[in-house]
Amino acid sequence: MLKGMFKKTTYINITSDVKREAVKPGAAAESVEVPEGLWTKCPQCGHAVYTKELEENFFVCSRCGHHLRVGARDRLKMILDADSFTPWDEELETKNPLDFPGYPEKLQKARSQTGLSEAVISGQGTISGEPVAIAVMDASFFMASMGTVVGERITRLLERATALRLPAVIYCCSGGARMQEGMLSLMQMAKTSAAIKRHGDAGLPYFTVLTDPTTGGVTASFAMLGDVILAEPGALVGFAGPRVIEQTIGQKLPKGFQRAEFLLEHGLIDAIVERKDQRSVLGRLLKWHKAPENPKTAAQEASAAGQSEAQERRQRPEAHNTEKNKEEVPEP
Ligand SMILES: [Zn+2]
Repeated sequence: MLKGMFKKTTYINITSDVKREAVKPGAAAESVEVPEGLWTKCPQCGHAVYTKELEENFFVCSRCGHHLRVGARDRLKMILDADSFTPWDEELETKNPLDFPGYPEKLQKARSQTGLSEAVISGQGTISGEPVAIAVMDASFFMASMGTVVGERITRLLERATALRLPAVIYCCSGGARMQEGMLSLMQMAKTSAAIKRHGDAGLPYFTVLTDPTTGGVTASFAMLGDVILAEPGALVGFAGPRVIEQTIGQKLPKGFQRAEFLLEHGLIDAIVERKDQRSVLGRLLKWHKAPENPKTAAQEASAAGQSEAQERRQRPEAHNTEKNKEEVPEP
């Protein structure tokens, strides 16, 4: 009797668009892709922004200030001085070391979709005239997961920076280890960390900028080893994802957990820098921490300067005493 009662003969198809709008802000960042259209929808507030305007505004939403994801090439354009970039290790090619089924096809697809050979671009350039070894990761390639080539490019970047006495900057972003490369992917954590240690031992500065999302093996290695760690507003930074942690500990996580602002409050990072200010902040950091041309001579000069200053002080103790006395005399 009920048969056929609920049967509809006509349907309206409303699934895909409605679903996309219903996604909560923040969580949306994972699923939204930026189309190469005339307009781009902000994943945070839903506002449609003219793509050209968005590009001019460093891919930051003019309405809510949300920092949209940026490809590695656009990122390099924003940060480096014009035409200063020379790529390194482009010839390194990802193979399928574990014969993981379907991996070569997926790699090929990612290459043709992004025009990139791997999830990181590395090389040398200048920021505000200061030479720097720089690597930028790109989330559009395999969610910027760290496979052997990503690890090797980062390691070589730091090794070359050590040899050339250059400071290093890495723009981090990653979904974690490259599942298809198993253990070999995990080994990149130790390899990159060792290269950073040698770079640091040579007296050279290393800065990281954490962008949305920086997770897994990248957070557990080179992302968190910066002498100064910067992050973009609202960037998700963590090891395991919040859902995994909630399921593991059986507790609800605090609001804003693993976002850059939360991490700054809890002392995990040094500063949050808006995209429009990143070039000048990095430029200043590079100037302040400029490595001396010859560290030995510089150290000798510094100690010589210190000695002569002390000598000078010894030669005119009266002057110092009178100054000191003056300070100590209370005003009538
Ligand atoms: Zn917005």
